[in-house]
Amino acid sequence: MKVVRIDRDECIGCGACAELCPDVFVLDDEDKAEVIAPEGGDQACIDEAIASCPVGCISQD
Ligand code: SF4
Repeated sequence: MKVVRIDRDECIGCGACAELCPDVFVLDDEDKAEVIAPEGGDQACIDEAIASCPVGCISQD
C-alpha cells in the first residue's frame, strides 16, 4: 500500500495541496501541511497535489 507523506521541513505552507485535495491534506496550526489520510483518497487529486507542490515535498510510495 502506498503511503502519502510530507516532508514538513520543506513545506512552505502554500496551501495548494489542501485546496486541491482537502480529504487528504490540511494545513495545521503551524501552517504546514499534514496528511490526514495517509493511505490515500482520490488518486487523481493526490497526483495533482504532488505535481502542484512548489517545493516537491509530497511523496507517495
Ligand atoms: S503544496 Fe507543498 S508546500 Fe504547499 S502546503 Fe502542500 S506540502 Fe506544503
